[in-house]
Amino acid sequence: MQRLFIALLALCTSVSAFAATPWQTITQPVPGSPQSIGAFANGCIVGAQPLPLNAEDYKVMRTDQRRYFGHPQLIAFIQRLSAQAHGANLGTVLIGDMGMPAGGRFNGGHASHQSGLDVDIFLQLPRARWTQTQLLRPQALDLVSGDGKRIVDSRWQPELGSLIKRAAQDEAVVRIFVSPAIKQRLCEDAGADRAWLHKVRPWFGHRAHMHVRLRCPADSLECENQAPPPPGDGCGYELQSWFEPAKPGSKPPVKKTPPLPPSCQALLDQHRL
Ligand SMILES: [Zn+2]
Repeated sequence: MQRLFIALLALCTSVSAFAATPWQTITQPVPGSPQSIGAFANGCIVGAQPLPLNAEDYKVMRTDQRRYFGHPQLIAFIQRLSAQAHGANLGTVLIGDMGMPAGGRFNGGHASHQSGLDVDIFLQLPRARWTQTQLLRPQALDLVSGDGKRIVDSRWQPELGSLIKRAAQDEAVVRIFVSPAIKQRLCEDAGADRAWLHKVRPWFGHRAHMHVRLRCPADSLECENQAPPPPGDGCGYELQSWFEPAKPGSKPPVKKTPPLPPSCQALLDQHRL
Protein backbone atom coordinates (compact mmCIF):
# COMPACT_ATOMS: atom_id res chain seq x y z
CA MET A 1 0.00 0.00 0.00
CA GLN A 2 2.71 2.38 1.00
CA ARG A 3 4.59 1.51 -2.15
CA LEU A 4 1.52 2.27 -4.25
CA PHE A 5 1.15 5.61 -2.47
CA ILE A 6 4.77 6.49 -3.19
CA ALA A 7 4.35 5.47 -6.81
CA LEU A 8 1.24 7.63 -7.11
CA LEU A 9 3.01 10.51 -5.45
CA ALA A 10 5.91 10.18 -7.87
CA LEU A 11 3.50 10.14 -10.78
CA CYS A 12 1.68 13.25 -9.56
CA THR A 13 4.96 15.08 -9.04
CA SER A 14 6.17 14.22 -12.51
CA VAL A 15 2.84 15.25 -14.05
CA SER A 16 2.83 18.58 -12.24
CA ALA A 17 6.42 19.19 -13.35
CA PHE A 18 5.18 19.03 -16.92
CA ALA A 19 1.87 20.79 -16.45
CA ALA A 20 1.23 23.47 -19.05
CA THR A 21 2.10 27.00 -18.09
CA PRO A 22 -0.25 29.84 -19.07
CA TRP A 23 2.40 31.05 -21.51
CA GLN A 24 1.84 27.96 -23.61
CA THR A 25 -1.72 29.02 -24.31
CA ILE A 26 -0.45 32.05 -26.24
CA THR A 27 0.00 30.64 -29.71
CA GLN A 28 0.93 33.76 -31.69
CA PRO A 29 3.46 36.52 -31.05
CA VAL A 30 2.08 39.62 -29.33
CA PRO A 31 1.98 42.34 -32.00
CA GLY A 32 4.17 45.37 -31.49
CA SER A 33 7.68 46.60 -32.05
CA PRO A 34 10.10 43.93 -30.78
CA GLN A 35 10.81 44.24 -27.04
CA SER A 36 12.53 41.70 -24.85
CA ILE A 37 11.22 42.26 -21.33
CA GLY A 38 12.59 41.17 -17.96
CA ALA A 39 15.26 38.59 -17.22
CA PHE A 40 16.35 35.61 -19.31
CA ALA A 41 14.77 33.34 -16.67
CA ASN A 42 11.82 35.57 -15.79
CA GLY A 43 10.57 37.54 -18.76
CA CYS A 44 8.56 37.69 -21.95
CA ILE A 45 8.67 39.23 -25.42
CA VAL A 46 6.51 41.48 -27.57
CA GLY A 47 6.87 41.35 -31.35
CA ALA A 48 8.70 38.01 -31.49
CA GLN A 49 9.33 36.55 -34.92
CA PRO A 50 9.37 32.92 -36.00
CA LEU A 51 12.67 31.55 -37.26
CA PRO A 52 12.07 30.74 -40.95
CA LEU A 53 11.70 26.97 -41.09
CA ASN A 54 12.86 26.53 -44.66
CA ALA A 55 16.55 27.30 -44.76
CA GLU A 56 19.58 25.86 -46.45
CA ASP A 57 22.14 26.51 -43.73
CA TYR A 58 20.25 25.27 -40.67
CA LYS A 59 17.43 22.91 -39.75
CA VAL A 60 14.91 23.44 -36.98
CA MET A 61 14.20 20.48 -34.72
CA ARG A 62 10.93 19.58 -33.01
CA THR A 63 8.88 22.16 -34.89
CA ASP A 64 5.75 20.55 -33.42
CA GLN A 65 6.70 22.18 -30.09
CA ARG A 66 6.55 25.67 -31.64
CA ARG A 67 9.51 26.93 -29.68
CA TYR A 68 11.11 28.67 -32.62
CA PHE A 69 10.22 32.28 -31.77
CA GLY A 70 12.58 35.02 -30.70
CA HIS A 71 13.68 38.63 -30.92
CA PRO A 72 14.63 39.59 -34.51
CA GLN A 73 18.22 39.89 -33.29
CA LEU A 74 18.14 36.22 -32.28
CA ILE A 75 16.77 35.25 -35.70
CA ALA A 76 19.52 37.33 -37.35
CA PHE A 77 22.20 35.72 -35.16
CA ILE A 78 21.07 32.19 -36.06
CA GLN A 79 21.07 33.07 -39.75
CA ARG A 80 24.48 34.72 -39.48
CA LEU A 81 26.08 31.81 -37.60
CA SER A 82 24.56 29.22 -39.90
CA ALA A 83 25.72 31.08 -43.00
CA GLN A 84 29.26 31.19 -41.57
CA ALA A 85 29.11 27.48 -40.74
CA HIS A 86 27.87 26.73 -44.23
CA GLY A 87 30.60 28.90 -45.77
CA ALA A 88 33.26 27.09 -43.75
CA ASN A 89 31.76 23.73 -44.73
CA LEU A 90 31.20 22.72 -41.10
CA GLY A 91 27.91 20.89 -41.76
CA THR A 92 24.26 21.67 -41.06
CA VAL A 93 23.46 23.66 -37.93
CA LEU A 94 20.65 22.06 -35.90
CA ILE A 95 18.45 24.51 -34.02
CA GLY A 96 16.66 23.38 -30.85
CA ASP A 97 14.55 25.40 -28.46
CA MET A 98 14.37 29.17 -28.78
CA GLY A 99 11.30 30.69 -27.10
CA MET A 100 7.55 30.48 -27.24
CA PRO A 101 5.52 33.09 -29.21
CA ALA A 102 5.25 35.46 -26.25
CA GLY A 103 8.22 34.03 -24.37
CA GLY A 104 7.59 33.16 -20.74
CA ARG A 105 8.05 30.01 -18.73
CA PHE A 106 8.18 26.54 -20.27
CA ASN A 107 6.70 23.44 -18.65
CA GLY A 108 9.97 21.99 -17.45
CA GLY A 109 13.28 21.66 -19.23
CA HIS A 110 14.30 25.29 -19.16
CA ALA A 111 14.35 28.00 -16.57
CA SER A 112 15.48 30.58 -19.11
CA HIS A 113 14.60 31.03 -22.82
CA GLN A 114 11.91 33.46 -21.61
CA SER A 115 12.73 36.79 -23.23
CA GLY A 116 13.42 35.71 -26.81
CA LEU A 117 17.21 35.95 -26.58
CA ASP A 118 18.26 32.31 -25.91
CA VAL A 119 18.74 29.44 -28.34
CA ASP A 120 19.88 25.85 -27.95
CA ILE A 121 22.06 24.59 -30.78
CA PHE A 122 22.91 20.90 -31.07
CA LEU A 123 26.58 19.97 -30.97
CA GLN A 124 26.25 17.85 -34.07
CA LEU A 125 26.92 19.09 -37.56
CA PRO A 126 25.52 16.45 -39.89
CA ARG A 127 26.79 16.33 -43.45
CA ALA A 128 23.80 14.40 -44.68
CA ARG A 129 20.39 16.02 -44.52
CA TRP A 130 18.27 14.89 -41.62
CA THR A 131 14.87 13.58 -42.57
CA GLN A 132 11.71 15.16 -41.22
CA THR A 133 11.37 12.22 -38.81
CA GLN A 134 14.89 12.75 -37.49
CA LEU A 135 14.20 16.46 -37.03
CA LEU A 136 10.98 15.79 -35.13
CA ARG A 137 12.58 13.21 -32.85
CA PRO A 138 16.24 14.22 -32.77
CA GLN A 139 18.78 11.94 -31.16
CA ALA A 140 21.04 13.92 -28.87
CA LEU A 141 24.70 12.91 -29.02
CA ASP A 142 26.21 12.96 -25.52
CA LEU A 143 29.76 14.23 -25.96
CA VAL A 144 30.80 13.76 -22.33
CA SER A 145 31.91 10.68 -20.39
CA GLY A 146 29.60 9.25 -17.71
CA ASP A 147 31.57 10.84 -14.87
CA GLY A 148 31.31 14.24 -16.55
CA LYS A 149 35.07 14.74 -16.59
CA ARG A 150 36.09 14.40 -20.19
CA ILE A 151 35.01 14.42 -23.80
CA VAL A 152 34.33 11.13 -25.52
CA ASP A 153 36.99 11.49 -28.21
CA SER A 154 35.24 9.35 -30.78
CA ARG A 155 32.30 11.77 -30.72
CA TRP A 156 34.16 15.07 -30.77
CA GLN A 157 34.99 16.80 -34.03
CA PRO A 158 37.04 19.99 -34.43
CA GLU A 159 34.14 21.50 -36.40
CA LEU A 160 32.19 21.66 -33.13
CA GLY A 161 34.91 23.76 -31.53
CA SER A 162 34.89 25.94 -34.59
CA LEU A 163 31.11 26.43 -34.37
CA ILE A 164 31.27 27.37 -30.67
CA LYS A 165 34.14 29.79 -31.35
CA ARG A 166 32.26 31.51 -34.16
CA ALA A 167 29.20 31.89 -31.94
CA ALA A 168 31.32 33.30 -29.12
CA GLN A 169 32.96 35.80 -31.47
CA ASP A 170 29.59 37.18 -32.52
CA GLU A 171 29.14 40.67 -31.14
CA ALA A 172 25.51 40.04 -30.14
CA VAL A 173 26.38 37.03 -27.94
CA VAL A 174 27.06 37.48 -24.21
CA ARG A 175 27.23 33.92 -22.93
CA ILE A 176 27.40 30.36 -24.17
CA PHE A 177 26.74 27.50 -21.76
CA VAL A 178 28.40 24.12 -22.28
CA SER A 179 29.31 21.16 -20.07
CA PRO A 180 32.55 21.76 -18.09
CA ALA A 181 34.21 18.92 -20.04
CA ILE A 182 33.43 20.69 -23.32
CA LYS A 183 34.83 23.96 -22.02
CA GLN A 184 37.94 22.06 -20.95
CA ARG A 185 38.42 20.73 -24.48
CA LEU A 186 37.97 24.21 -25.93
CA CYS A 187 40.57 25.55 -23.47
CA GLU A 188 43.06 22.85 -24.51
CA ASP A 189 42.55 23.39 -28.23
CA ALA A 190 42.38 27.19 -28.30
CA GLY A 191 46.05 28.07 -28.79
CA ALA A 192 46.97 31.75 -28.61
CA ASP A 193 43.58 33.13 -29.70
CA ARG A 194 41.68 32.87 -26.42
CA ALA A 195 39.64 36.03 -25.89
CA TRP A 196 36.43 34.36 -27.11
CA LEU A 197 36.66 31.71 -24.36
CA HIS A 198 35.58 34.40 -21.90
CA LYS A 199 31.96 34.02 -23.02
CA VAL A 200 31.92 30.22 -22.91
CA ARG A 201 30.67 29.23 -19.48
CA PRO A 202 30.68 25.79 -17.83
CA TRP A 203 27.24 24.75 -16.64
CA PHE A 204 25.24 21.68 -15.63
CA GLY A 205 23.93 19.52 -18.46
CA HIS A 206 24.70 20.93 -21.92
CA ARG A 207 26.51 17.74 -22.91
CA ALA A 208 24.92 17.54 -26.34
CA HIS A 209 24.07 21.16 -27.09
CA MET A 210 25.27 24.66 -26.45
CA HIS A 211 22.97 27.33 -25.13
CA VAL A 212 23.66 30.72 -26.69
CA ARG A 213 22.44 33.90 -25.03
CA LEU A 214 22.34 37.35 -26.62
CA ARG A 215 22.74 40.66 -24.86
CA CYS A 216 19.64 42.78 -24.33
CA PRO A 217 18.85 44.75 -27.50
CA ALA A 218 19.63 48.45 -26.93
CA ASP A 219 16.03 49.51 -27.53
CA SER A 220 14.51 46.90 -25.19
CA LEU A 221 14.37 49.23 -22.22
CA GLU A 222 12.82 46.73 -19.79
CA CYS A 223 15.28 43.93 -20.64
CA GLU A 224 17.60 42.91 -17.79
CA ASN A 225 21.17 41.95 -18.68
CA GLN A 226 23.26 39.71 -16.44
CA ALA A 227 26.54 40.82 -14.97
CA PRO A 228 29.33 39.99 -17.43
CA PRO A 229 31.35 36.78 -16.82
CA PRO A 230 34.52 37.20 -14.74
CA PRO A 231 37.54 38.47 -16.69
CA GLY A 232 39.92 36.03 -18.37
CA ASP A 233 39.44 32.90 -20.43
CA GLY A 234 37.86 30.96 -17.53
CA CYS A 235 40.17 27.99 -18.09
CA GLY A 236 41.89 28.02 -14.71
CA TYR A 237 40.72 27.50 -11.17
CA GLU A 238 37.07 28.21 -11.84
CA LEU A 239 36.82 25.49 -14.45
CA GLN A 240 38.82 23.01 -12.35
CA SER A 241 36.40 23.54 -9.46
CA TRP A 242 33.71 21.87 -11.57
CA PHE A 243 35.72 18.65 -11.63
CA GLU A 244 36.36 18.47 -7.90
CA PRO A 245 34.08 16.31 -5.78
CA ALA A 246 31.62 17.68 -3.22
CA LYS A 247 32.09 21.30 -4.12
CA PRO A 248 29.20 23.63 -3.60
CA GLY A 249 27.76 23.83 -7.05
CA SER A 250 27.67 20.09 -7.59
CA LYS A 251 23.92 20.45 -7.92
CA PRO A 252 22.09 23.16 -9.83
CA PRO A 253 21.07 25.88 -7.39
CA VAL A 254 17.35 25.91 -6.71
CA LYS A 255 16.09 29.44 -7.10
CA LYS A 256 12.75 30.77 -6.00
CA THR A 257 10.64 32.09 -8.83
CA PRO A 258 10.47 35.87 -8.49
CA PRO A 259 7.27 37.69 -9.46
CA LEU A 260 6.87 38.45 -13.16
CA PRO A 261 7.88 41.89 -14.38
CA PRO A 262 4.67 44.00 -14.39
CA SER A 263 4.72 44.36 -18.20
CA CYS A 264 4.86 40.58 -18.59
CA GLN A 265 2.07 40.05 -16.08
CA ALA A 266 -0.09 42.55 -17.97
CA LEU A 267 0.72 40.84 -21.27
CA LEU A 268 -0.12 37.44 -19.81
CA ASP A 269 -3.43 38.64 -18.33
CA GLN A 270 -4.41 40.11 -21.67
CA HIS A 271 -3.41 37.25 -23.96
CA ARG A 272 -3.63 33.95 -22.08
CA LEU A 273 -6.54 31.68 -22.83
ZN1 LIG B 1 19.01 26.30 -23.34
